[in-house]
Amino acid sequence: MKNQEITVVGAGLAGSECAFQLAQLGYKVKLIEQKSIKKSPAHTLNTFAELVCSNSFRSDSLGSAVGIMHQELRELDSIIIKTADKNKVPAGDALAVDRNTFSTEITEILNNHPNITIIHEEFKNLKEYAKDNIVVIATGPLSSEGINQEILEIIGEKSFNFFDAIAPIVYKDSIDFSQAWWQSRYEKGNAKDYINCSMTESEYEIFYNELINAEYMEFEDWEKDIPYFEGCLPIEVMAKRGKQTLLFGPFKPVGLVNPHTSEQPFAVLQLRQDNSQGSLYNMVGCQTKLKYNEQTRIFKLIPALKNVEFAKLGSIHKNTFINSPLVLNNDLSLKNNKNIFFAGQITGCEGYVESTSVGLMCALFVNARIKEKNIEIPKMSSMGAILNHILESKDNYQPSNINFGLFPEIKLENVKKIKKADKKELIMQQSLSNIKIFKGSI
Ligand SMILES: Cc1cc2nc3c(=O)[nH]c(=O)nc-3n(C[C@H](O)[C@H](O)[C@H](O)COP(=O)(O)OP(=O)(O)OC[C@H]3O[C@@H](n4cnc5c(N)ncnc54)[C@H](O)[C@@H]3O)c2cc1C
Repeated sequence: MKNQEITVVGAGLAGSECAFQLAQLGYKVKLIEQKSIKKSPAHTLNTFAELVCSNSFRSDSLGSAVGIMHQELRELDSIIIKTADKNKVPAGDALAVDRNTFSTEITEILNNHPNITIIHEEFKNLKEYAKDNIVVIATGPLSSEGINQEILEIIGEKSFNFFDAIAPIVYKDSIDFSQAWWQSRYEKGNAKDYINCSMTESEYEIFYNELINAEYMEFEDWEKDIPYFEGCLPIEVMAKRGKQTLLFGPFKPVGLVNPHTSEQPFAVLQLRQDNSQGSLYNMVGCQTKLKYNEQTRIFKLIPALKNVEFAKLGSIHKNTFINSPLVLNNDLSLKNNKNIFFAGQITGCEGYVESTSVGLMCALFVNARIKEKNIEIPKMSSMGAILNHILESKDNYQPSNINFGLFPEIKLENVKKIKKADKKELIMQQSLSNIKIFKGSI
């Protein structure tokens, strides 16, 4: 089986990592990249693993979730992170690189690898190709039209997204429950389904005025044709339609009674559970293009969120991604065509480091498939946490980067409440140890 050829489409962060890992495992890899013929509006280099925006892989500190991911990737011999280390530029505790030398070095490594053949073309014939070949699709958030069309035909329109509409996600522990309460609207469903955060008329007035006058991020020129769906308009766009609009939308108070006052509030924001551990909550209907500092300032005007900590801020971007929890098997292959695997941001992870890690995991899954072996990425690890995000079913699946809220809950015998800093330290220690053990098992 070792001579089986595997096709990887897209030599971005995920595809480059995936192709390298497969080649190191002894497989012949065909790596197909379109850039020398055709580029997305965000790509400018002809070389591989291009960092399209910031030159930073974010914090390298083991006190951060993404720093833990860096270390796990180093442990698993990631070519992306090791080349990033070699091309590092000074950036405090962040791992930032010279993007040109980094991308050039990755390209040289892949070009010179005896098991990798590079094909410069836009890959299109997915259905036909996947009849007899294993194909990894790693075409990223700006996949070409041709491949988008093919993916769409295979998985259907409802499972394919052209842009994300992300509402902020907060840590439950930081919500003030002397103001907030659990209740489902009209008592439908489970009472613990929603956390409610109310505002009086005067509080709403202040919130509303700040919202409509806030600074927001402009779309890039090539993103301007994004069609907003009425169902997920940015909150500031809804607000600008009139003061009442939000009160009939994401801030509607009907069917809710504030137990702290025994009255129906003037306005209520509902937060819905966002991870199975129940540590993260999503601000329902608050997808937004407000600048990040404006989001933290304005959402904290809601009394129960005065001291809230954000796991993720809202955004709206052009972003091709599939509804992974619906369409993928646990090994990142398609439920309705097991020869097609997905890797990188197209699966609904977000960021350079996360895309790299999903590229690496995908290579391990392809290897496990061919060898008819079962592998399990440790649940307590940053890689397991991002994989769980990708595969765990959700009402409204949206991309996420790695954050502490995605890790499993940490428990200690005879300890009721673990301090936040201790929790992070324990998560880090367990994750790195688990990945070391996992490495020994592959
Ligand atoms: C405008 C923009 C800014 C971003 N800024 C940041 C940031 O600052 N920090 C961060 O961490 N993340 C950022 N991201 C997210 C980041 O781009 C991704 O997380 C990461 O690049 C995704 O890696 P990937 O390998 O999945 O996709 P990519 O790195 O985009 O790689 C996909 C590759 O597939 C190729 N391709 C596409 N279609 C085809 C086809 N049909 N045939 C052959 N090849 C094809 C593309 O040319 C590309 O080389 C940004 C994304 C965008 C769009």
